[in-house]
Amino acid sequence: MAGRLLSIGECMVELMQAEGDFLRKGYAGDTFNTAYYARLFLPKDWSVDYFTAVGTDTVSDEMLAFIEKTGVGTGYIRRVEGRSPGLYMIHLKDGERSFSYWRSVSAAKTLADDADHLRATIEASDIVVFSGITLAILAPTAAETLLLELRRAKAAGKLVVFDPNIRPRLWNDKQYMLETISAGARASSLIMPSFDDEAVHFGDADIAATIARYRGLGVGNIVVKDGAKGVTLSFAERPETFVPSARVERIVDTTSAGDSFNGAFLARYAADGDPQAAATFAASIAANVIQHHGALVPKDKLTA
Ligand code: ADP
Repeated sequence: MAGRLLSIGECMVELMQAEGDFLRKGYAGDTFNTAYYARLFLPKDWSVDYFTAVGTDTVSDEMLAFIEKTGVGTGYIRRVEGRSPGLYMIHLKDGERSFSYWRSVSAAKTLADDADHLRATIEASDIVVFSGITLAILAPTAAETLLLELRRAKAAGKLVVFDPNIRPRLWNDKQYMLETISAGARASSLIMPSFDDEAVHFGDADIAATIARYRGLGVGNIVVKDGAKGVTLSFAERPETFVPSARVERIVDTTSAGDSFNGAFLARYAADGDPQAAATFAASIAANVIQHHGALVPKDKLTA
C-alpha cells in the first residue's frame, strides 16, 4: 500500500574537525535523520518528504541538493529571503566530542509561518513526524500553529509521530519546555521517547511511569527507548511487550541511534502495522548505525 511520510523540523549544516584546521561539511538534524532512514527502508511506492524552511543562499541550495540526493523530497520546503540554515560544529578533543551551535536566526525557525502551506502539506501526508527539537526552535505562536495542524491530522486519523528528544539548552524556560512537550504528545498518535530524557526532565521513576503519563495525555501508541537495554512497546489493544536491543561489541559513534531506530521502525510499521517486528528490525539497524561514524550511514553498511 503506497503512502506519504512527511518529517518536519530543522536540518543543519554540520562542520566536523578534520585534519589540522580543516573542517568537513555535512548536513544533519534529528527529523531529517529519521526521514533518511525511513527512506532507506520504505518501499519505493512510498514518498518521503522533508518539511522545513531554508534561505535563498548558496548553502541552502547545497543543502537541498544533498537532501534530494538521499531520495528525500524537498518539494514542500519554503525559501525565505535573508535567512540561512543553522550551523553546528563538532569539536574533537582526546576522543571526546563537544558542540557549538549557530542557529538562533536559522531559516527553519520560520517553518510554520505559512499556515496554509503547512496545512496543505500535512493534509497530503499519511504519516507526519516531528520532535521536541522542532517545537523548541519555534516561537510560542509558531509552535501553536504547528500543534494545531498536528491535532487536526491526528483527528483525521493520520499517524502523527513524536519523539520528544528533550534538549534543555534549546528551551529558555523549563516549565514551558515540559508543557510544550506534553502538548506535542497530546497532538500525536505514536510517541517514541528515550527513557533517560523522560526520567531526568519529567521525573519518571520507571518506564511504566513514562507510559502511564503519555497514556494520560491521550497517546494511543508508545515506544519507550532505553539505549542498550531495549524498547518497551505499549500499543492500543495489544499486550505490552519488550524488545531487547541487539548486542554491539564495539560502539563507534552513538549519533543518530534514536533517529535511525525511529526511521527504520516507521518504515516497517507503515508496511504491516506490526510494532513487534518493526522494533526488532529497528533495533538491528540502530545497532549497525552506532558501529559507524556519523549520523547518516549508507545503506550498504547496514544489515538487518
Ligand atoms: P537516543 O539516541 O534517542 O537517546 P537510545 O540511546 O535509547 O536513543 O537508543 C536508541 C536505540 O538505539 C535503542 O533502542 C537501541 O535499539 C539502539 N542502541 C542504543 N545504544 C545501544 C547499545 N549500546 N547497544 C545496542 N543498541 C543500542
